[in-house]
Amino acid sequence: MHVFRDIEELRDWRRSAALAGRTVALVPTMGYLHEGHLSLCRIAATHADCVVASIFVNPTQFGPGEDLDSYPRDEGSDLVKLAENGVHCAFLPTADMMYPTGYETFVEVQGLTAPLCGASRPGHFRGVTTVVCKLFHLVEPQVAVFGLKDYQQFLVIRKMAGDLLMDIRVVGGPIVRAPDGLALSSRNAYLSHRGRKAATVLYRGLAAAREAYRGGERDPGALRAVALEPILAEPLARVDYVEVLDAETLAEPSAERPMVVAMAVFVEKPRLIDNMVLGAALAE
Ligand code: AMP
Repeated sequence: MHVFRDIEELRDWRRSAALAGRTVALVPTMGYLHEGHLSLCRIAATHADCVVASIFVNPTQFGPGEDLDSYPRDEGSDLVKLAENGVHCAFLPTADMMYPTGYETFVEVQGLTAPLCGASRPGHFRGVTTVVCKLFHLVEPQVAVFGLKDYQQFLVIRKMAGDLLMDIRVVGGPIVRAPDGLALSSRNAYLSHRGRKAATVLYRGLAAAREAYRGGERDPGALRAVALEPILAEPLARVDYVEVLDAETLAEPSAERPMVVAMAVFVEKPRLIDNMVLGAALAE
């Protein structure tokens, strides 16, 4: 596996891959890798000849008071995991490289970024789309793979690629969960033993909403109330949002169309997000 820390090294490699007629799939990450990230690398390998995984804790997607400085990092172990999961190139740029002095250009998707995490974390998606757009220009992938755990992010990136006429297929990978249902997340590392147990309320809420949906419930307010119940009963959990929206547009849902139950919940220190699509699977 190549490990590139420099933009020019990456570009040289990309040019030689293009000359050899090899296609490239990109998996952007912030590191501290777990099975969720690695599943995306394996999916990426089924779509292209070479897989590039980036590790970059992107400062512009963190707000003031968020966990940019304490975000967990373990570069040595990350590189071993990427190499073991079929990644050909790891790209680890610095913030100075990605944001040259005096930069004043951003990429912003409107509409889709208004609800959910866009409402609770102002500027977050602008940081995400800006850095992903830069990574797309540097890596020039034919395919980019994002986890459906960050469901709104997946929709926003797909919209950006379409709106900006990028010739990149944005593929979604299923949410990887621990056996008790908790979605894997680098931020789970912040949880105490007690907090880790409490964190299962997110999945329990989603699973309860899914059961209600399977039982014929289609009223978004009722589905939301079912999802909220176990979370409100857990003293260590504090709801940021729990919403039921149209799975495609994130607008008001209607009973005939797939819905997404999306949530952000603080459990002790970390803010955890999770979601479940009801009515259809949305993978790409
Ligand atoms: P992050 O490092 O948190 O920015 O995540 C990098 C990529 O991994 C994003 O596309 C996430 O959606 C994806 N990801 C994170 N956790 C999971 C998970 N549990 N299952 C599937 N994909 C995930």
